[in-house]
Amino acid sequence: MAVKVELAVRGPEAYSLARNVIAEMEKVGVWPTPLNFELWMYYLGDPEGALGDEIRRLLKERTVISDETSEMLAAEYLPRGRLSEEIRDAGAVLDRELASIQTAIAKAHKTQADYGVTLAGASESMDSTRGAAAIKDLVGGLSHATRRVRRETAILEERLESSNKEIARLQRHLEQVRREAMTDALTNLSNRKAFDERLAELCSETETAPLALALLDIDHFKRFNDTWGHQTGDQVLRYVATVLSRLCVGDRFAARFGGEEFAVIFPGEKTGSVTAVLETIRKEVAARSLRRRSTNDDLGTVTISAGFALREPGETAASLLGRADVALYDSKRAGRNCVTGAGALTRAA
Ligand code: GH3
Ligand code: MG
Ligand code: MG
Repeated sequence: MAVKVELAVRGPEAYSLARNVIAEMEKVGVWPTPLNFELWMYYLGDPEGALGDEIRRLLKERTVISDETSEMLAAEYLPRGRLSEEIRDAGAVLDRELASIQTAIAKAHKTQADYGVTLAGASESMDSTRGAAAIKDLVGGLSHATRRVRRETAILEERLESSNKEIARLQRHLEQVRREAMTDALTNLSNRKAFDERLAELCSETETAPLALALLDIDHFKRFNDTWGHQTGDQVLRYVATVLSRLCVGDRFAARFGGEEFAVIFPGEKTGSVTAVLETIRKEVAARSLRRRSTNDDLGTVTISAGFALREPGETAASLLGRADVALYDSKRAGRNCVTGAGALTRAA
């Protein structure tokens, strides 16, 4: 996708693409921030790509493309994310460290080789020399060469130690960047990218081990936002996330799936325990009467709907997600604030 877009923004169609981007953003009501402009350039530069699919999905659901949403899209779909920049920087530092270690090693190597030559010369001289003065000279020369080798070795050790420290610092830094790239900034839950990777990993590990997947969606959240504002809506997202984190312990993996939707993976669990946990989450979310932090306004309660599916042997992540989504939709149709399990996978004969 990146190559296609790079060509599009530098080819003969570049200005007309940029004009289309502005027109399209205006048409769908997205602010022309630099980040949104970049997102839409990539979207319209390659409309059939994954970013295009996701943007169309969000617009279809009438999701507000907030700065938060744009950041999430950029982190997931734009090629020059923060992670790749950090990795490039770290790579440059590593290159420098390696080059400097190589120089130190080469120098130490040469000194050792010179030392060998000095020793060989000394042993030849021993054979032919007799006088005490000559032997003294010889020993003096040898101890000078020995000191040089020791000094070079000490320098090499110092370089290695400082490189070790620098590399350990980089590892810690990259680990933190990686964690941030996998975390949803608003709720602190794992983000969609982390979720997709985890689910794919679990599905590829085994064909048959029990695995359940749930999708949870806040009910009438648009209405809530319209009534109380987007910021208060964000507070609700954080609240639901804290309930999820508290109840999804052990191997359970909770993530913000996107917008006001969450997902939980239940490795090794079956209908009974999955339903019980989802019911607890649903009841806990609905039990608390919320208050707006800034004004102490009573916001009433929010509810969530959930749908889940148990993985059938060999079922793909996409199929499992699709069935959980259908079950979620069933919960919505049944009046919301409830949990529905998916029907069995129907396979073509
Ligand atoms: P339903 O019960 O059918 O799920 O109705 P709904 O209103 O929750 O669903 P709909 O898909 O119509 O609207 C989802 C809303 O979620 C729209 C958007 O304003 C809100 N939303 C999505 N992401 C965010 C976000 O990051 N912050 C806030 N505050 N709201 C968000
Ligand atoms: Mg939704
Ligand atoms: Mg909703």
